Order: sequence, then structure tokens, then C-alpha cells
Amino acid sequence: LAFKERESLYIALSFARDFFVKNLQTAEGKSIGLSYFKERGFTPTVIEKFDLGYALDGWDHLLEAGKKAGFSEDILLKAGLILQKESDPNRKYDRFRGRVTFTIHNISGKPIGFGARILTKDKNQPKYINSPETPVYHKSDVLYGMYQAKKAIRDQENCYLVEGYTDVVSMHLSGIENVVASSGTSLTEGQIKLIKRFADQVTVLYDGDPAGIKASLRGIDLLLEGGLNVKAVVFPEGEDPDSYSRKVGTEAFQSYLKEHSKNFIGFKIELYQDEIASDPIKKANLIKEVVQSISKIPDPILRSVFAKEAAQLLEIGEEILHTELNKSLIKKQ
Ligand code: ATP
Ligand code: MN
Ligand code: MN
Ligand code: MN
Repeated sequence: LAFKERESLYIALSFARDFFVKNLQTAEGKSIGLSYFKERGFTPTVIEKFDLGYALDGWDHLLEAGKKAGFSEDILLKAGLILQKESDPNRKYDRFRGRVTFTIHNISGKPIGFGARILTKDKNQPKYINSPETPVYHKSDVLYGMYQAKKAIRDQENCYLVEGYTDVVSMHLSGIENVVASSGTSLTEGQIKLIKRFADQVTVLYDGDPAGIKASLRGIDLLLEGGLNVKAVVFPEGEDPDSYSRKVGTEAFQSYLKEHSKNFIGFKIELYQDEIASDPIKKANLIKEVVQSISKIPDPILRSVFAKEAAQLLEIGEEILHTELNKSLIKKQ
């Protein structure tokens, strides 16, 4: 029975994907959804590659089409496609309305959920509405874009990690296909394991805003803890991979990534370089932060290699750095 339910959910989610994709070509879809994608520079090729679509504006377009196609309300609910009205649980309505849709695939390419972006500037509505957890969509084990990226991640031996759906799509437009998104939530162990199936190196490309920087620092430590080789890039204030690639163009974007990819030590130094120049306390804090990150690395030999590099880059004695490192390693036990 459990097997049958999962199968029905997959079929319902594929139906919804087809419905959203098809609706992008209706009059409403063209004038609202497709023109939005075009404005963002999305080509028909990436629209097709990522199953981008449009959820018609209205309460029950998907619900009615789904029922007509033979899906029960129960399955549509369990798939996260419709919602129950609180005041009247007998009344159901579409979760995604009047938004462009990003299909979330599992690694074999089956649709398992959706992210849907608002098209108006209405500040009272969330910018993105995402599918909920379902029996086939365990968010903590999924990375957006992995299906389209996995081959390139293997070939390039590196996985770019971005925050958003549009960053993934834009990077494909820039010819970079080894990219996945954590979709704005903090990275999980399951997601790190997923990356490790394809590569040993991750390059974190989070947004150049305070939230993105904070998430990068946290993500870097988790990735180090997972035994991955971690690089990161700092983007100019207010830019994310999507906005920045469109701003400077494909070639300049690719060279920016090459020139600004730093290991975690270099990344932290770049982040704080202005402050530490004039403030010894800030520099001490930076050293402690770097030591903290080194202490996450499971392999003692690699730890020692990074301790040596940190001592050089931070211009501090290797012995004192090792003493600090041992302190945090003891604390961890
Ligand atoms: P855009 O370029 O379209 O504005 P973005 O991807 O740059 O989108 P961010 O605000 O940087 O948007 O958020 C990064 C990611 O976090 C989004 O792609 C989405 O997956 C998730 N996210 C953002 N806002 C919300 C929200 N209100 N609810 C749920 N998830 C969200
Ligand atoms: Mn952001
Ligand atoms: Mn962003
Ligand atoms: Mn963006």
C-alpha cells in the first residue's frame, strides 16, 4: 500500500509539472509567466531543461484538472499541490496561484515538488511558496538542480552551491552546469551526503548580503565536518550569482569565480580584511574563527596542513595556532 501511495504521488506530481509547463503557453501564461522569464534572460532551452512553468491565477485550476484526470483530492493534498480551507475542510484550493513555477526533481528526474515565485511587488505575500514535506519530498535530502547537475559535478570534480532557484538556472545560462541550490534553508547532513556521492569539493556561492555571508560561514563548517574540500566566493554587496552573472556577462562571471574562489581560510580573511587591518582584537577573533573551522576537519593530517597554511596567511606562530587548535579539539570531545 505504501508503495502504491508513493507511485500515485509521483504520478500526480508529474501531472502537475505537465500542467504548469503547458500553462506557460496559454495566453495568461505567455503574457505573465513567459514574459517574466524572458525579462530575466531565461531562454526556451533552460525553461525546458528545468521544467519551468506557470500556475494560473485562480483558486482551483490544478484541483479541477487533477480531478478530471482521475486524481483524488486526498492524493493531491498528500502531494502538497492543494490545501484545505481552514474554516471549511471540505473546501480545497490550489497551493500555487498566479506564480511562475520551478519544478524540483529527485536525482532520477522525477518531479517531487515545486517552488513558485510571485510576480508582483506585493510585500504582503511571500516571494516564494514551496511544496511542503511529503512522503516523496524530504527537503533535507534534496538539492535543487541535482538532476541537471550530477554529470557535470562528476566531470568537474566540484559542486557549486548557491542559495536560489534562479541562481541555478542563470549559471546554466552562463555555461556552468555543476550547480545546486540549498533553496534558502540551512544545509543539512543529508544534502552534504548527496553532494559527496558526486564530488569531494564544494564551492559555496551564497548571496553577498549579511544573511548569505552568515549562511556561508555556517555551511562551510558543516561541509568541512562532512570531510569535503571547501571553497567559497564573496560576491559584491547585494549581488547573487544570478544578478552578478547578468550584470557582468558570462565571461567576466566565469573569471570572477576562478579568481575569487578561496579556501575557507582565504574566504574568512577576505571577509574581514578591512576590519583586521586596524584592529588587533578583530584579528584575534578571526584567528579563533579560522581555528574553529579547522577543528571541524575530521582528518588529522589535513587539519595539520590547514593549520600550517593558516599560520602563514594570518602571520602568526604555528605553535600558538596548534595550541589553540588542540584546545578546541579537546572541547569537542
Ligand atoms: P530572486 O532572484 O527571484 O529574487 P532569489 O533566489 O535571489 O530569488 P533569495 O531571496 O536570495 O531569492 O532567496 C534564496 C532562496 O530562498 C530562494 O530561491 C528560495 O528557494 C528561498 N526563499 C526565498 N524567500 C522565500 C520565502 N519567502 N519562502 C520560502 N522560501 C524562500
Ligand atoms: Mn538573499
Ligand atoms: Mn538571492
Ligand atoms: Mn536573486
